[in-house]
Amino acid sequence: MNIDLRELYQDVILDHSKHPRNFGPADGAYRHVKGNNPLCGDRVEVHLKITDGTIEDARFEGRGCAISLASASLMTELLKGRNEAEARALFAQFRELLTAKGPVDLARYADIDRLAALSGVRDYPMRVKCATLAWHAMNAALEGKDEEVRTE
Ligand code: ZN
Repeated sequence: MNIDLRELYQDVILDHSKHPRNFGPADGAYRHVKGNNPLCGDRVEVHLKITDGTIEDARFEGRGCAISLASASLMTELLKGRNEAEARALFAQFRELLTAKGPVDLARYADIDRLAALSGVRDYPMRVKCATLAWHAMNAALEGKDEEVRTE
């Protein structure tokens, strides 16, 4: 990875962890699922408002490391207006990016946009749990579950 790209990625992660988007509680019109990553101490709660199969709004709250917060923040931005199948496809793509072995062609992951900033965590399996925590909670919310999601 070249230096410019690395700096850009760090800026995205810092920005979204310090100033998370769509952050805060949501009312009963939303589905709510908590995620808990005890290895790192990350706790997030994802709120999804789904109307006719489309994610009308996505919010989250909680606390954790920069990776977990930036991932959750970027996720909420990406999910709005997507249908459930699209949301699952984005998660699949993000997981693939985070677990890929060898060099990655980032152009293949254009759909997940700035989440590519988190691609560096693939060298650190512990951090992959941080990066996917909010996504696992989102996935459970799509399935209509409401029990806490744990990374282990
Ligand atoms: Zn973490």
